[in-house]
Amino acid sequence: EGMRELLLSRIRDVSDYPQPGVMFKDITPLLADPAAFTALTDALAGVCARHGATKVVGLEARGFILAAPVAVRAGLGFIPVRKAGKLPGATLSQAYELEYGTAEIEIHAEDLGGGDRVMVIDDVLATGGTAEASLELIRRAGAEVAGVAILMELGFLGGRARLEPALQGAPLEAL
Ligand code: 5GP
Repeated sequence: EGMRELLLSRIRDVSDYPQPGVMFKDITPLLADPAAFTALTDALAGVCARHGATKVVGLEARGFILAAPVAVRAGLGFIPVRKAGKLPGATLSQAYELEYGTAEIEIHAEDLGGGDRVMVIDDVLATGGTAEASLELIRRAGAEVAGVAILMELGFLGGRARLEPALQGAPLEAL
């Protein structure tokens, strides 16, 4: 439980960002603290190992910062899921609903294969829309979902319930 306290103490609440009425969880103080960043990396790598992941997917942009060191630490490949239009190769795309409008994310399908078990990593689970769309991409690429591992879940937004059907029994672990 020391780890949980350490991580929580390094997350900064920023009010009215990016819009009035929103309390943003800023993880940059955590990233700036090597003990906290290492503890987070080790914990997420442990989730990957426990669930038999063979690849790590990071969600743009803060998910990249967490997933890349986790991949190295766990000895797994790293695959980016990016906003539409950023990946140069052949992609699979998935659109999803935002509070207002839609968004689209993409993956290089050839980097995932039939034998892969993929752990999705991000910093914050809010409404769950981004994570849900990423699970869709992973399955469409022919790989299996090992789970979703995140630093923090904003429980009041109901992301876990939204994600539940897409998880198909795979774990959602929030540190
Ligand atoms: P969702 O699709 O679950 O609504 O939104 C999750 C995405 O938005 C994640 O990629 C996450 O990085 C970002 N996000 C939403 N709210 C916050 C927040 O309060 N803090 C941080 N750091 N990211 C957030």
